[in-house]
Formats: sequence, C-alpha cells, structure tokens
Amino acid sequence: MEKFKLIGKTIAELENFMIENGQSKFRARQVFNWIYLKSADCFDNMTDLPQSAREFLKEKAEITSVVIKEKQISKDSTMKFLFELSDGNFAEAVLMRFDNRANLTACISTQVGCPMGCSFCATAKLGFKRNLTVEEIISQIYLIQADTGLKVTNIVYMGQGEPLLNFNNLTESIKIFRENFVVGARRITVSTCGLIPEINKLAELDFQSTLAISLHAPNQEKRKAIMPVANKYKYDDLIKTLKSYTEKTGRRVTIEYVLMKGINDSAEDAKELAISTAKLKSNVNLIVYNENEKSPYKKPVKENILKFKYLLEASGKKVTIRLERGADIDAACGQLSAKMKS
Ligand code: SAH
Repeated sequence: MEKFKLIGKTIAELENFMIENGQSKFRARQVFNWIYLKSADCFDNMTDLPQSAREFLKEKAEITSVVIKEKQISKDSTMKFLFELSDGNFAEAVLMRFDNRANLTACISTQVGCPMGCSFCATAKLGFKRNLTVEEIISQIYLIQADTGLKVTNIVYMGQGEPLLNFNNLTESIKIFRENFVVGARRITVSTCGLIPEINKLAELDFQSTLAISLHAPNQEKRKAIMPVANKYKYDDLIKTLKSYTEKTGRRVTIEYVLMKGINDSAEDAKELAISTAKLKSNVNLIVYNENEKSPYKKPVKENILKFKYLLEASGKKVTIRLERGADIDAACGQLSAKMKS
C-alpha cells in the first residue's frame, strides 16, 4: 500500500489522518512542527512522540517521496542539490547568499525540463518532461533544510521550468511556504518568461510576492530572436500587462535582463530599454550571461556591462547586477540542466 505523504499537508489534513488511524489528534501538531519548523529528517528524531506513534508513522506514512541524489558545493559556498523523483526523473535546486548576509535564498524548480525554448538557456536544451507536483516543489525546500540544518529565508522560482505553466501547483506551493514554513510573501519571487493570461491571473489573486519578468530585450524584434514566447505574446502587450499588474497589486516588478555580447548589450539597447519600460514601475536586474559549451552566446566585456547599467540608471531606474554564483558547479543562472533518464 502506498504510504501517506506528510509533506504539503495542512494541519487539518494531518489531524484527520491521525484520527482515522486511531492516533490522538494533538500528535498532528507535533508532527507538523517537526516537518515544517524543525525539518526533522526521520520519525526517530521526533523525540516528543511516543514510540508507538513513531512506529505507526514509519509503517503508514513517509515525509516525502523525493530524495537527495547528489549535492555539490561551489568555491563561493553555493550548493546545488540534485533530487530524484519517484518516477526516476530529476529536479535541481540551488542554495545561496543572493543579496545580503541575513538572507539565505533557495532557487527551486517547477518543471522537469522546460518547453519554452529560449535559445540561450541550458534547461531549454533538455526539452520538457512534465510539471512538478506540489509535493515535489515543497520537498525541495524541506530537504535542503533537513540536509543542511539551515533555515531558508528567501525562495525564488528561478530553477528549471516555467512556473506559470504549472500555475495551480505554483500558487498552492506558495501558500504552503507562507503558512507552514512561515516564509514571508515578500521573500518569495516568481520569475516568468512572460505568459500574459497567467500574469493577469496572478494579479487577480492576493499575490503579494514579487514578480520577476525575463525580458532580455529592448524590443519585440530582438526578443523574438531569442525567446519563442514572444511570437505568442508581443512585447508591447507584455509591457501593458505588467503595467496593469503593478497598478492592481501596488507592487513593483523586477525586470530581468541577461546581457549577451553583441545580442542585446549595446548603448542603443540600453536607451531603448529605458524608453520602453519608462512608465513601468520596475527595478532592473542585469544578469551577466553564464557561458556554457553548448551555447554560442558570450558575456559582454565588463566595460559594456557598466555602461549599460549607467545608461539605465540615468533614466531613473534602480539597477542591480546579479552576481554570479556557483559557476564552477554549473549552479549559476540558466545552467541547471540535470540529465534526465530517457
Ligand atoms: N522560466 C522562468 C524561470 C527561469 S529563471 C523565466 O523565464 O523567468 C532563470 C533565469 O535565468 C531567467 O531569467 C533566464 O532567462 C535566465 N537564464 C537562462 N539561461 C541563462 C544563462 N546562460 N545565463 C544567465 N541567465 C540565464
């Protein structure tokens, strides 16, 4: 018989499970706290449960079906986790100091592979296998915490896959991160290549997390050349959608812009980007392209990166340059490409 998965369950669901199996209801709260707040990695470590309750749980339940298959640690102490899923597929996540020392950020995946086909992205080369379940999304954070003993303070949906193509599991997992793991809404960021209907759906929800948009180009023509999604959703329509998103939610969006040499890194590109996003309440996050052997794209020289930043700042935008993390273990932005079984 398949075991009852504890991860992702609400307190009410855990209580029902305990009661149905003749266990006392208040044990559910203990189990809940052990999993979400203390990231216990096995039932024997749930020390305030009586032996009989632990034996019952071992027989009838499991915390998660996902396991850590491999872990790599970079020179800059970024960690990459490879997870094996119950059907033999793999997912990846990265743990790093993203912005400041008080924060510990986990970058998690929402799909096995990705169908969006961005020409510069390593995950795109894998093609698309399937969406991750809520259990698989949540388990990435739980397993990282259980393995390291550290508390993840910030979550970014910037690993493999397009989060908005897995909309229901995405929003359900955010709810669980907020309620069970007690991660603040503002410490959660969803990154998308720009699916207009789903962005509108997010705007309708009480979604207080940050929306990051992978724009990567100053106009429709240039975007279409590197991101097939632009064939479906036009540049100007995307900017309009984002504007109405900021009006509805009162939240600024983050524009992600990967700088690639000779593709989108000229002074003209910077000026055009400043104009096309002038009325959009946004901060810009410049990402220096992470080169990989399968890709023809290169990163710009340092001087051009700074020039691009200065030109955007001159237009009044707040601009940050995302520091490269974990490049030596292929954990940097856009490098996640866990080999999948065929
Ligand atoms: N599908 C979502 C989530 C992926 S997030 C999205 O498109 O936003 C990963 C971010 O890294 C995206 O902004 C993506 O465009 C960017 N990226 C992909 N390949 C990259 C590379 N080689 N170097 C730097 N950034 C890259």
